[in-house]
Amino acid sequence: MKYDYLVVGAGLFGAVFAHEMAGIGKKVLVIDKRENVAGNIYTENKLGINVHKYGAHIFHTSDKEVWDYVNRFAEFNNYINSPVAVYKDELYNLPFNMNTFSKMWGVRTPDEAKAIIQKQADEEVARIKKEKGTDEFTPDNLEEQALSLAGRDIYEKLVKGYTEKQWGRDCTQLPSFIIKRLPMRFIYDNNYFNDRYQGIPIGGYTKMVEKLLLMEGDGEVSFASGSIKVETGVDYYDFIKMSGNTPAEPFESVNGDSFDKILFTGMIDEFFGYKLGTLEYRSLRFETQELPEVDNYQGNAVVNYTERDIPYTRIIEHKHFEYGQGKGTIITREYPANWKHGDEPYYPMNDEKNNTLYAQYVELSKEYPGILFGGRLGQYKYYNMDQVIRAALDMASLEK
Ligand SMILES: Cc1cc2nc3c(=O)[nH]c(=O)nc-3n(C[C@H](O)[C@H](O)[C@H](O)COP(=O)(O)OP(=O)(O)OC[C@H]3O[C@@H](n4cnc5c(N)ncnc54)[C@H](O)[C@@H]3O)c2cc1C
Repeated sequence: MKYDYLVVGAGLFGAVFAHEMAGIGKKVLVIDKRENVAGNIYTENKLGINVHKYGAHIFHTSDKEVWDYVNRFAEFNNYINSPVAVYKDELYNLPFNMNTFSKMWGVRTPDEAKAIIQKQADEEVARIKKEKGTDEFTPDNLEEQALSLAGRDIYEKLVKGYTEKQWGRDCTQLPSFIIKRLPMRFIYDNNYFNDRYQGIPIGGYTKMVEKLLLMEGDGEVSFASGSIKVETGVDYYDFIKMSGNTPAEPFESVNGDSFDKILFTGMIDEFFGYKLGTLEYRSLRFETQELPEVDNYQGNAVVNYTERDIPYTRIIEHKHFEYGQGKGTIITREYPANWKHGDEPYYPMNDEKNNTLYAQYVELSKEYPGILFGGRLGQYKYYNMDQVIRAALDMASLEK
C-alpha cells in the first residue's frame, strides 16, 4: 500500500495531524509502540471510572479555535480544577488565593493578606542581603527567589517540599529562574487555571482520540477521500528493521508499504541514535489503588502533599473529574523520579544545556526534509494539550 504519511505515535499530536491529513484526502498509517492509542492522555475505564493512567489531565485553554476543535470530538463537562494542598495536618486551597491566606493567617481582606506577604518578603530580602553583605538583592537560587516573592510562611508550607520532591534537589540547589513569579490571587477563587475554557471530556480522553483517528471498532475507516489505519503495539524501530532501512531513511517498502512523508512524535535524540548526545527528562512513577469499598477517598480530584517527607507529590481520585457517584473509587499516588533510558520521559528538562543539544538535533533533522518532528518528545517541549493541538494544526496547515 502506498501511504502519504506514516505517523509514529498515536498521542494527541499524531492523532490531530493524522485527522487533518485524512481530511484533505491523504492516506495515513498511524503506528504506536503502546498497545493503546492516546499516548499520555490515555484513560482506561475501571469500576466505571475513567482512570488517567499517565497522570491527571485537565483540559484548559484560552484558544477559542482549539476549544471549538476539541468539542467536535468530545463533549466536555464543567470540571474546574481546584486542588487542595496538605501540609502536616493543615489543608490549604490552591492556587494561592484569599482562601489560602485566610486559612494561613486568619485574615479577611486582600489588604491584610498583601501586608503580611510584603512584610515577610521584605524581612527575607533584608536577611539575605545582610548575610551576603550587599545592598543589592539578586536571588542566587530558587529558595531566595521564592522567599522574596511570597515570604516565609507560603514558602515553607506550600512551595519548598513540593518543589524539592518535583526536582529531586534542595531549593537552594535549584536555579531561581524556575520560579519567575508565584501567581497569587487576591480574591476568594480556587480555580487553578486562568484560561477561558476548561473541562474534562465526558467518557475519557481515549474516546476523543479514537474519534480523531476515525476508529470505529478496529481497522481502517474512510473519511472524505482520505483514510487512517491504526496499528498499536508496533515500535517504529522494529517496523523499520523489517525493511532493512535505517530509521532516517524509511520511505520505501516497509513490509510492502511505502510513505511519502513521516511525522515522528517519539524522542528526537533516540531517532538519531543519540549521536549528538542524550536529552534529559524528569520521570514519574504512578501507584494506582482500586478501593471498591470506599466511595469517596479524599473529597477532591487533586490533593497535593507539600511536605518533603511524604514521597509522593499528589494523590488523584479519578472519579471526581467526572463527578462520579458510583460505588468504589480509584486513587493514584504520583511520585517524581529521576529519568534513565527505558523510563517514560515525562518532563523535558528545558535548561540551557538540553535546549542547546535539542537545537543541534533540529539542525540535523533539516537534512531529512521528508521527516517531520512533532509533540512533546519530537519537539522536546513541555506542551499542554491545547498547545499540542495548536502545534499539530499549524504543522498540518503547512502541509496542506
Ligand atoms: C503527569 C502529566 C500531567 C499532565 N497534565 C496535563 C494537564 O492537566 N493539562 C494539559 O493540558 N496537559 C497536561 N499534560 C501534558 C500532556 O500530557 C501532553 O500535552 C500530551 O500528552 C502530549 O501529546 P504528544 O502526542 O505530544 O505526546 P505523547 O502523548 O507522549 O504521544 C507520543 C506517542 O508516541 C509513541 N511513540 C514514541 N516512540 C515511539 C516509537 N519508537 N514507535 C512507536 N510509537 C512511539 C508513544 O508510545 C506515545 O503514545 C500533562 C503531562 C504530564 C506528564
